[in-house]
Amino acid sequence: MNQEESLILKKSVNSVLDTMVKLGFDITKEISELKNINMGLLRKSSVYRHGVTRYLPTSKWNSTNPNPSCVRVVDIHPLLLESEWEIYREIIIFHEFIHCLGYLGHNKTFYKLESLWPTIKQKKSLGNKFMNILKLKNSTWKWVCPKCNIEVFRQRRSSGKYICIKCKCKLLDKAIR
Ligand SMILES: [Zn+2]
Ligand SMILES: [Zn+2]
Repeated sequence: MNQEESLILKKSVNSVLDTMVKLGFDITKEISELKNINMGLLRKSSVYRHGVTRYLPTSKWNSTNPNPSCVRVVDIHPLLLESEWEIYREIIIFHEFIHCLGYLGHNKTFYKLESLWPTIKQKKSLGNKFMNILKLKNSTWKWVCPKCNIEVFRQRRSSGKYICIKCKCKLLDKAIR
């Protein structure tokens, strides 16, 4: 991670923590513990994962239920550092920070906390938009229907094995780069 990237990340983390204070998270405990979390980046090729909390081995935990000191690193997708993804970036960081606080699974309690986030209603649409861009960036082939021009982005060739869902024409392979 270069200096510019780590600066963007730091700014976002602070902004997330400021909002969490307003949402009523405990400043002396939760917020001050989260301040020390190591932040990192996922691989560029990650498509479905936009953030992940990686814990230290359980033998190194100081309690049975994890807390921020049990976290090795929180990684987010490098593309999230681009300015246009600021809102989604903060949603992802907040999501991972809830995990860091010891809420491991995506259960009711987790989603109740996540739903406090001011822009949470945009999570689904931003997430889908982000994923589609990643799919496109990670594709080497375009499967094209010669009749209705539908395009599907894939990492592999279709090699004549797939047909268009609309007109049943055999899809053709076109290299993207
Ligand atoms: Zn999660
Ligand atoms: Zn077609």
